Amino acid sequence: MLLMNRVHCLLNGEDITAGQFNSMNDEKRELYRDNLVCIACGRRATFRRVSAKRTPTFAAQHKDGCILTSKTWSAFRYLQ
Ligand SMILES: [Zn+2]
Repeated sequence: MLLMNRVHCLLNGEDITAGQFNSMNDEKRELYRDNLVCIACGRRATFRRVSAKRTPTFAAQHKDGCILTSKTWSAFRYLQ
């Protein structure tokens, strides 16, 4: 599992951030939830619920060699 702040939405072809997803109403989240994928490798991404200690993020099981899992990117993945 690798956490990320931004995912690609297959519904509208746009990228959305965890913050944007978090501020959607339940109906819209329900619609989007099954259509979120990694912006780089296209693997399914899931939203991780916000707790008091944590900012909202997405998690995905990336393909081998996904650019987001490379060392260069890992330092920046929360800043995207
Ligand atoms: Zn990926």
